[in-house]
Amino acid sequence: MRNNKVMKKDNICIGISQCLTNSIVRYDEKNKYNKDLIVYLSQYFKLNPICPEVECGLSVPRPAVELVNENNRIKVIGRDDKTLDVTDKLINYSKEKVKALSGLSGYVFKSRSPSCGIGSTPIFNLNGEQQDYGNGVFVTALLSQYPKMPVAEGESLESETARNEFVQMVFAYEQSEQDV
Ligand code: SF4
Repeated sequence: MRNNKVMKKDNICIGISQCLTNSIVRYDEKNKYNKDLIVYLSQYFKLNPICPEVECGLSVPRPAVELVNENNRIKVIGRDDKTLDVTDKLINYSKEKVKALSGLSGYVFKSRSPSCGIGSTPIFNLNGEQQDYGNGVFVTALLSQYPKMPVAEGESLESETARNEFVQMVFAYEQSEQDV
């Protein structure tokens, strides 16, 4: 196994949900700052913080949104105001944004978000009942563009073992991209 410590910081860049950094971008004007994780990842990687909801033009604060399955099409609808529909805004932004992220070698996301969750985001039916879990729309766009890119939710990187495995996956992906 490669020794993580020999890899130099800033040679490899990964994306990170911006609310996991000390940055106020969430709908409720809070963040989910995970200092321990940020410090750990920063040993190995340059971090590229991105908030898809802010970058697509939504404000801080903003109404909370959630994923709704409408006739097998996933939409992004207001949690409290069902007339609020930011589906096209968020999906169009995401599809364009990910095209510019070919330089990333991995991505750490915030769980359960309609933009950033990896399989953890609740999906509701039109009656407001939760029917499933899935990916946030930005994650869907990213993995569609880069299906082999290592991704993880911050919550899954609490243990040293999980963190080390993620770092190794990023190293391997970055090397494979260089070999292309
Ligand atoms: S989960 Fe994603 S979209 Fe939501 S605040 Fe964090 S970075 Fe922004």
